[in-house]
Amino acid sequence: MITLDNISKWYGDFRVLTDCTTNVTKGEVVVVCGPSGSGKSTLIKCVNGLEPVQQGKISVDGDEVTAKGANLTALRSRIGMVFQHFELYPHMTVLENLCLAQEKVLKRSRAEAVARAEKLLARVGMEDHSKKFPSQLSGGQQQRIAIARSLAMDPIAMLFDEPTSALDPEMIKEVLDVMVELAQEGMTMMVVTHEMGFARKVADRVIFMDEGAIIEDRPTTEFFDHPESARAKDFLSKIL
Ligand code: ADP
Ligand code: MG
Repeated sequence: MITLDNISKWYGDFRVLTDCTTNVTKGEVVVVCGPSGSGKSTLIKCVNGLEPVQQGKISVDGDEVTAKGANLTALRSRIGMVFQHFELYPHMTVLENLCLAQEKVLKRSRAEAVARAEKLLARVGMEDHSKKFPSQLSGGQQQRIAIARSLAMDPIAMLFDEPTSALDPEMIKEVLDVMVELAQEGMTMMVVTHEMGFARKVADRVIFMDEGAIIEDRPTTEFFDHPESARAKDFLSKIL
């Protein structure tokens, strides 16, 4: 579903990614972890073409993201992305937030968009909040809306970049629960997170990054029980 083939990326003279190769198959859940500044966000942004790469090839569902003239708008409408800061449109109600791209990009009718939105709001436990504005919701509620908004586009895969790290502790679980459910339903997911409980529970694989390189890319239990690199061992000892 998602293939990264020997990706390297520079910001000016600074090499932010070095020869990153991995792939995520359909239905797989891959957690990406590593120290701050190791390139996790950059890697995940490259997957849906938010950041260009200077070397290597990325494909999503057979389409090459890194090809010259790739249709990135079409690509992004098929891959959901949820960031640390829930980027809901502040001047729109929850329902409008969920309907906008469905109508504008997917050309769904109003009725279709509303029906899909309502279904997803119920799924993330937010059916009673459709008329509210984002500012009237807690961080955890806003993040669940952001996930629902992505799902409304019927994505073929979901990318998450530290979706719970800006949340108060008591709200982390309600967001992780939605993500766990999504994973268990078979969504293809790439998740940057420090929530190792989540990783252990649903990840098929863990990618550990350091200084822009993929240091480990292993089945979850192997990674936790027998990390190979000193850097991963050190990271786990600090975080667990
Ligand atoms: P992580 O998500 O693992 O914390 P990032 O991918 O955000 O790491 O950043 C990796 C490195 O690239 C960091 O050293 C960061 O300072 C640098 N970096 C990130 N974005 C930019 C940018 N737009 N321009 C220059 N350097 C950047
Ligand atoms: Mg980051």
